[in-house]
Order: sequence, then structure tokens, then C-alpha cells
Amino acid sequence: MTTSATPQAAALPRIAVLATGGTIAGSAPDAANTAGYQAGVIGVAQLLAAVPGLDSVAQIHAEQVASVDSKDMSFALWSTLAQRVNELLASDDIDGVVITHGTDTLEETAYVLHLTVKSAKPVILTAAMRPASALSADGPLNLLNAVTLAASGQAGGQGVLVAFNNRIHCARDVAKISTYAVDAFQSPEIGALGWVQDGRVEFQRRALRPHTVDTPFGAAIQWPQVEIVTSYAGVSRLAVDALVSAGVRGIVVAGTGNGSIHATLQQALSDAVAKGIPVVRASRVGSGHVMHNGAAKDDALGFVSAGTLSPFKARVLLMLALATGTSEKAELQRVFDTY
Ligand code: ASP
Repeated sequence: MTTSATPQAAALPRIAVLATGGTIAGSAPDAANTAGYQAGVIGVAQLLAAVPGLDSVAQIHAEQVASVDSKDMSFALWSTLAQRVNELLASDDIDGVVITHGTDTLEETAYVLHLTVKSAKPVILTAAMRPASALSADGPLNLLNAVTLAASGQAGGQGVLVAFNNRIHCARDVAKISTYAVDAFQSPEIGALGWVQDGRVEFQRRALRPHTVDTPFGAAIQWPQVEIVTSYAGVSRLAVDALVSAGVRGIVVAGTGNGSIHATLQQALSDAVAKGIPVVRASRVGSGHVMHNGAAKDDALGFVSAGTLSPFKARVLLMLALATGTSEKAELQRVFDTY
């Protein structure tokens, strides 16, 4: 579906809006309901119709790629989305892509695309904390800001960005940090890249790590089974041993503090390494980095340290690395130190 055909619109950037569902497309029986709604039930045409002035920002090409609650995000949808973004951006008719998504796994999808999209054109994810039916729904303004950012001429070459509550975040850094607040996304410790407000876009800094065209990762992959285990008081080795018996291809551990791991769990994980299963050490804290050979002796134990990646993003990177044939520890550590 393409909207805007006035002569004046012809000069505007051409932005594809891909809808996948989420709360931004959610609906509840009454306007005061912001928690008991159904996500992903409103179509892309209705989402766009709720944004006054969009036609003066960009020519919109809209597609309904999926209608899911992003808690149910799947490997199949990640692959479909990455391939569709790549197809659209390869065309001379599209200048950028905006994806509407649920907030729950937005940071994972954003990082998948950050590593697998093969274009320097802008790709912006946005979402909402309140359903489209709610009083003070945040979706329409977030969508307007995402399209404004995509059309601004400033967002290219920066990998995948997230436009949310007026801020611009890098896909690698961003995380959902509130279960309910409208200001639900932050880039912990590092901060946002910039802001978008009232049609103006301002970047304060750029992300330094390689992404998109500068990674070896592609969209068409078989996703290997990689799971996350957590360290906590009294943890047993049950989960790790069950994963190993089930043939898991890799494990990310969400350690305490600076990625420290309970002795029982650490033993189970080092036994997994001895069986050839890569283990990546991240932290459950949600901010800060996990120092290599810091709270655990990675080199002695055979672990890879995740640095500043959250356990969820470390899992994405480990899956992509394994899918491209990287499983040797030193090479995996190089991947984690790079992307
Ligand atoms: N469960 C919803 C989703 O992730 C939450 C949201 O979008 O805010 O799709």
C-alpha cells in the first residue's frame, strides 16, 4: 500500500513502514485500559491514519509483515523481516525503513537487524507502551518521530536505530527498562544518540562498533539453539545439564554483578565447555560491562565474556556467530569484542 501522491509529496523521501504488531497496534475495550489489551490487532493503514501530517514528512509505502505480540517473536519472523528490509532497501524506490514492533523484544529484533541488514540506508524501529485505543496513546507520536528520523537524511550509516519517546537509541545499546512507563527505553550507562522532536532531529554522538554492511552476518540463516541460564542464590546445575543433554549449541549465562557465577553453576558450565559447547558470560544487572577474566577466569574456564552486551543480545550475537561457523573460543571472543 502506498499513500501520498500529490506533486509536492513526490519530492519527499520514500519510507517503507513495516508493521509487525505490538502494543502500538493494540486495542482495549475502553480508553483507560493500558494493561489488559490485545496487542497486534490494528492494521498498518489505521496506524498511519492516526498520525496527522505524516504525508508532509515522507511518501509512505506500508506493509503488514506480521501481527504478533512481540513476546511471541520467532526466528521465522526475524528472518522474514531481515530479508524484507534488505529487499526494500536494495530498491532505488525506497530511502529508508520504519518498523513498528512490540516493546517486549524490540531490543532483540533491533540488534538482529543491526547485524544482518546489508544497507547504509536508515532503519528505525518504534513501538508504544499504550495501546492505540488508550487515552494519551504514545504510538502516533512515536511513529511520526520514527518516520521523521528515517526521512531526515541524518540517520543513514548508523545501523539500526530506535526512536522512542523523543529519543534516538542505537540498537546495540537500547533496552526496555520499565514494565509500564511511557519512557520505557534507555541505553543504560551509555545514553541515547540524540533526539527527535517537533520535526527536528539532532544527533549528539554516533555508535562506533561495526554493523550492517560491515558484518559477516546475513539474514538467511538457520538459527542454532542457544539458551540463557541465570546465576542466583542456591542455583542448581539442573538447567545446564538438561540443556547439554538436549543438544544445545551454545549457552549464555546471566551472571550476578560483573558476570560472577555461583560455584555450582560455574562447574556445570565449565563441564559444558569441556563437551564443546560455547559459553558466553554476561550479567543480569542490566548496566555496565563484564570484564574479560574479571569476576571469572574466562581463559581458564573456557568462557567468552559478553562485554557490554545484555544476555539477550549476547544470545543474538552467539547465534549469528555459530550460524556462520564460528565456535572456537578465541574467535568467538574476537566477535564479541568487535560487534
Ligand atoms: N506485549 C507487547 C509486545 O511486545 C508489549 C508492547 O508492545 O509494549 O508486543
